[in-house]
Amino acid sequence: MTSLIYPLPACALGRTFKRLVFDARALDTLYSERQLKPSQPESGGQLLGTFSDDAVQIVTVTIPSRDDVRSRFGFARLQATEQAEIDEAFSAGLHYLGDWHSHPEYKPSPSSIDVITAKKLFRTSKSELRNFLMVIVGTSENASDLYVALVNGRRVRRLTQI
Ligand SMILES: [Zn+2]
Repeated sequence: MTSLIYPLPACALGRTFKRLVFDARALDTLYSERQLKPSQPESGGQLLGTFSDDAVQIVTVTIPSRDDVRSRFGFARLQATEQAEIDEAFSAGLHYLGDWHSHPEYKPSPSSIDVITAKKLFRTSKSELRNFLMVIVGTSENASDLYVALVNGRRVRRLTQI
């Protein structure tokens, strides 16, 4: 898989950032966690990235640890694990940009609970970003079916590729 590029609305993540780029390696991880078989549990984790002059680049996506509780339609992460991962990433020069998870549907879209959870996460975070990213990977292998959105405490805005 090659990298994916999404144009960013003005000031969506920071004043100078015009593009959101998914590195090929991060996409490989996302796509390897798709729920292709009925027995596969929902997966999810964090989106970690770097900032350059005009782009935000997602370079790493974390996947569930053994402590995480997984099921086909639900996914609960242990908060201690989450914070430890954010701290570890930050010391490695990576910024937390939001969360991703899988859905067992071809063209995924967020559930009402996904939206409520994502807005609440943004409101209770201490991040300096103006939005977080919400990413949902379905079973489709087409990059255009990947759900990528900006979310803040008030609204969700889906991003589309160039
Ligand atoms: Zn969901």
